[in-house]
Amino acid sequence: MNSTFKILILFYAITIYLGRQLYAFSPALVKKFRWWNLKRKHLKLSPFYSPFVTSKKKLEEYPQIDKSEFMAHFDQINSKGVSIKDAMPLVMKAEKDRDFSPEINGVTAGMSSGTSGNRGVFLASVKERAFWVACVLDRVIGWSLKPRKVAFFLRANSNLYESVGSRLLSFVYFDLLVSVDVHIATLNRLQPDIVVGQPSLLKLLAKSIENGALVISPHKIISVAEVLTHDDRVYLEKVFNQTVHQVYQCTEGFLASTCKLGVLHLNEDFIHVEKHIVDEERFNPIVTDLFRGTQPVIRYLLNDILVEGPECECGSSMMTLDRIEGRMDDVFVIKDKSGVKQNIFPDFLRRIVIGAHEEITEYQIIQMSENEISLFIQPVKFHQIVVDSLSAFFFQKDLTDIKFTKSHHLDHDKNSKFRRVICKY
Ligand SMILES: [Zn+2]
Repeated sequence: MNSTFKILILFYAITIYLGRQLYAFSPALVKKFRWWNLKRKHLKLSPFYSPFVTSKKKLEEYPQIDKSEFMAHFDQINSKGVSIKDAMPLVMKAEKDRDFSPEINGVTAGMSSGTSGNRGVFLASVKERAFWVACVLDRVIGWSLKPRKVAFFLRANSNLYESVGSRLLSFVYFDLLVSVDVHIATLNRLQPDIVVGQPSLLKLLAKSIENGALVISPHKIISVAEVLTHDDRVYLEKVFNQTVHQVYQCTEGFLASTCKLGVLHLNEDFIHVEKHIVDEERFNPIVTDLFRGTQPVIRYLLNDILVEGPECECGSSMMTLDRIEGRMDDVFVIKDKSGVKQNIFPDFLRRIVIGAHEEITEYQIIQMSENEISLFIQPVKFHQIVVDSLSAFFFQKDLTDIKFTKSHHLDHDKNSKFRRVICKY
């Protein structure tokens, strides 16, 4: 890591720290300043957004945008004149060679995780990468003058992540495509102070701790990338004997992270979130990143399902999240007797399955077709109990024509995020 980059990180760390302090006094002032700065420095260089800047539109008057529109207008949205035609082959090649450092017009290009199937390209400048690192240090890793080792499990390496290393903080990257058994030996040698990984991976590590193969005592566990369900959280906290921290981040922004009490807060000091209401308690976030200007994220509708939590005792006024339930794509849509389509949220299904029997250790629920649900339940002897519980729930909702099938394996390619509830229909 070169020294200019380190100085940038330090600069942003101070900026973020001061911004957070100021936010406690006047949230509106911080947001107003960042929004003004974003328009002045970046949006006016974006062919897509400059007319809105010129005509002095308010943020609420900017168009709401979703992933497909965001990619369709890629060339006009970014402020660096990068075209998707040039960027896509570059990131495709990088992904294939597993060499994650392509640059175009002076900015880094990467492939977004493509959870909804459609691939995307994201762009980040050096300053934005430094800002991101400073955010991770401020909100996730925490500052310390003691040297610390971080075991970082990732789907794919990226120069975003590599750029974090220094004498005080050494990052060891673990490739999720390699079997966990191979990583156990390395982890035993490394003795990491901090472990970062997705819940499905953290659970494998926890199991190895329980059976004695893995002997580590990290003082911070950070769950990333997938939904951390309540039951998984309880299990991980028991085995690791500490609060499990979470990061809610996607290509579109570093949205939320846990405070010292383990409560998720939206990073409202640099992310503005509006609510797209789903039902009385659920909403999809409409995200505006008040810092990113290379590829502005303005009123971007994410299809994640969020539930707001109560005010937190830590003192931060930033909105808390009670839970992240999953994605709209994974909401089951089932027709009832009168032909009316009903939405069944993933969270209901998860609760019914784990509530069916306390000894259920692993599960997955997939809607395969209009009236077929495939279940993977472990131990398999509880399959029928789960079918009975789900049937009773669906019966109450007048959904009686459902066929349950038994699956003998988890639907999870190691290169993707693990989802317990999937709608393939
Ligand atoms: Zn808090």
